[in-house]
Amino acid sequence: MLRASLAVPSVGAQWTGITTRIAERLLETGAVDAVLTMAPDPDDKWKPMPVLVTKAEGMAQCRGMRMGYAPLLALLEPARALGYKRLAVVGIPCQVYALRALEKSLGFERLYVIGTPCSDNTTTARFHQFLELISEEPDNITYLEFRADYHVEIRYTDGRVKAIPFLMLPLSQLPNDFFPLTCRTCVDYTNVLADITVGYMGGQGEQWLIVRNERGEELLDLLGDEVRTTTPGTGGNRQGPVKGFLKNVERAAGGLPLRRMPNWLRPIVGWLMPRVGPKGVEFARARVEMKAVETVLHLRREKPARMKNMVPAHIWPLVEPYGLVPTPEERGKDAL
Ligand SMILES: Cc1cc2nc3c(=O)[nH]c(=O)nc-3n(C[C@H](O)[C@H](O)[C@H](O)COP(=O)(O)OP(=O)(O)OC[C@H]3O[C@@H](n4cnc5c(N)ncnc54)[C@H](O)[C@@H]3O)c2cc1C
Repeated sequence: MLRASLAVPSVGAQWTGITTRIAERLLETGAVDAVLTMAPDPDDKWKPMPVLVTKAEGMAQCRGMRMGYAPLLALLEPARALGYKRLAVVGIPCQVYALRALEKSLGFERLYVIGTPCSDNTTTARFHQFLELISEEPDNITYLEFRADYHVEIRYTDGRVKAIPFLMLPLSQLPNDFFPLTCRTCVDYTNVLADITVGYMGGQGEQWLIVRNERGEELLDLLGDEVRTTTPGTGGNRQGPVKGFLKNVERAAGGLPLRRMPNWLRPIVGWLMPRVGPKGVEFARARVEMKAVETVLHLRREKPARMKNMVPAHIWPLVEPYGLVPTPEERGKDAL
């Protein structure tokens, strides 16, 4: 694990642009024939649209995060039909999971997988509803990110930047199914099947890399001196925030309203959280445990018969410290 940033951040990138810069380097060095990734849909900048990029300069249009689903892997067969033998794919965990399942049958000579973490996704239409809730001028928003310092950062077309504390977000106004059950029960937040995961959660304001294998090292080496790396920091204690999160999910999953904090207290706690809450690797662990808690609580409530097949063994040790223990039926056959 590394904390990292590009010495010269790429214009238009979500963070400093490590993801698209690696893809550019693969194309510049001729290591791949094409990169499969998402560009903005010409009719809606927030809607992802799968593209096969064959020239390094083509990656600039792909920078930034778009919210929504799009059939990334539908371009794998066209890529093969075009004669591409060495391919790189940039994907979120569910896309990478399916990619790895197909990998052998596709017969590419070389496949590089650059993953990003993903906490939740929704349709682009729903994301537009969210933008309308948080801003009076949603059409002028060019950038949005849930930062590791408990703020959502929003940038506008005229250059204004706004940071809203998580606690001040109107999340309770979102419908319960704003995020689909598949995202609420996702067990691979950090994209374990990627060669390298490029995120921000453990980065304390910088990017956060998980180099997972030799191919991932090869990808990072392509950046040479362009990337600055250090050991990730850590601080605070995740137990309290994860417990609080669990209590709220239990209430919401049980159909009860969220335990609302009084409005006067929100700015104070919003100010305190970045100062006393978990930071760096501890923050990343907190988020991974929160996702695991969500998986168990939402599946138990909505699809209990699926527990044994859909909760893999690595989830239980993450949630057991918070009192969530599997029944024999729930544990399934790949139990640890
Ligand atoms: C829906 C979603 C949720 C995310 N949640 C988290 C999180 O909780 N924690 C975390 O650490 N990181 C998360 N990320 C990743 C994060 O937003 C950054 O993309 C990542 O840190 C890389 O930054 P960068 O500057 O290197 O990216 P850039 O160089 O700007 O490149 C971004 C890459 O992401 C691709 N991309 C954009 N939107 C999508 C999409 N909808 N589906 C697939 N690929 C897409 C682009 O095509 C591009 O290749 C999420 C990304 C998405 C798409």
